Amino acid sequence: MSCLFCRIVSGEIAATKVHEDERMVPFADVNPQAPMHVLIVPREHIASLNDVTEAHDELVGAMLRRAAALARERGYADRGFRTVFNCQAGAGQTVFHLHLHVLAGRTFNWPPG
Ligand code: AMP
Ligand code: ZN
Repeated sequence: MSCLFCRIVSGEIAATKVHEDERMVPFADVNPQAPMHVLIVPREHIASLNDVTEAHDELVGAMLRRAAALARERGYADRGFRTVFNCQAGAGQTVFHLHLHVLAGRTFNWPPG
């Protein structure tokens, strides 16, 4: 298995996991870009947002709700948080296993860099 995030999901590579369930494994980003930086990673290997189909609607909805729940647990529901899917290298995707970034704890600019 060569995919880094599949190896983290399986436990072969260590990560600081938070609140995993049967569908997804959220874990702390190893190179955090904000005081809170969690990656919400589905157990299923999906290369990018380009590969998400109708069959994934429930999964992606659950990922987004998990993002909001984690932000709320950490006190960021009202202060604000940023959720990002980078899709393809031109948008900054470096790991080709779908993941939702959840960032909070600082001010975020718009438009993003
Ligand atoms: P992206 O650039 O959108 O594909 O995001 C990939 C993210 O994975 C980056 O923010 C990296 O810091 C993070 N990352 C890479 N390797 C690891 C790892 N072993 N554990 C946790 N996060 C990682
Ligand atoms: Zn994978």
